[in-house]
Amino acid sequence: KDYLLTEYMGRKIFYYNSVTSTNIIAKELAENGLEEGTVIIAEEQTLGKGRMGRKWSTPNGEAIAMTIILRPEISPFMAPSITPILAVSAVEALRKLTGFDVKIKWPNDIVLDSKKLCGILTEMNSDMDMINYIIVGMGLNVNQENFDDEIKEVAVSLKSFSGINFKRKIIIAEILNEFEKNYEIFKVKGISEFLDKLKEYSVLLGKRVKVISINNSFEGEAIDIDKDGSLIVKKDNGEITKVLSGDVSVRGM
Ligand code: ATP
Repeated sequence: KDYLLTEYMGRKIFYYNSVTSTNIIAKELAENGLEEGTVIIAEEQTLGKGRMGRKWSTPNGEAIAMTIILRPEISPFMAPSITPILAVSAVEALRKLTGFDVKIKWPNDIVLDSKKLCGILTEMNSDMDMINYIIVGMGLNVNQENFDDEIKEVAVSLKSFSGINFKRKIIIAEILNEFEKNYEIFKVKGISEFLDKLKEYSVLLGKRVKVISINNSFEGEAIDIDKDGSLIVKKDNGEITKVLSGDVSVRGM
């Protein structure tokens, strides 16, 4: 708590040893009226969630699994931008604390050494054009030395990269410090205020990518991030398309 410099982010923390998923718990708490800035943290998730029903593994005591409850008075169509806002905040916190070259893999991952360090999952509950609440969860690999066979090729932790043990408390506080600041700016100015940072931290720009969605896949070059946060890809036939973060996976190649 001494490291936390926020006004309201993380001033109320629900801490658990083991949960199904911090996003699931956060949803229940949000339904019960818990206020903006409430944070749910767990040592272990038994059903950690990724996007599109994928799994996120959070072994006991070594990683960070946390979810933040938000209640912004913004239009529901802006809600997906919470993912890049938290990504920018986490990158800034991690660069400051570790000096490592962490980057954002659009739309929702943070990578280190070309492997996944952190995943972010934003979910929203809204009526008509009013947001009831947003919950934004992150799984961040900190002190794991090994990973399960299924993810060992794709996953990295701060420790597996550097051999150094990190204090999760300090990382959590620093991410919340950065996030509160950026969230306040975002509510007034929108995602466009973060474009320069999103581009600077992006690992995909200038690279060949494969964009995979349910009914369509294509390859091309990631050339830009649009002012609404979408990824601009130049296909091999020269056509330029905007990729929305919704339900696509992007592979760097
Ligand atoms: P993709 O990377 O295929 O585009 P995605 O970004 O949608 O998928 P997420 O939903 O963010 O992926 O995360 C789920 C995937 O992350 C899992 O399918 C698994 O491959 C991988 N994964 C699961 N747990 C971890 C972990 N602790 N660290 C790194 N990667 C993990």
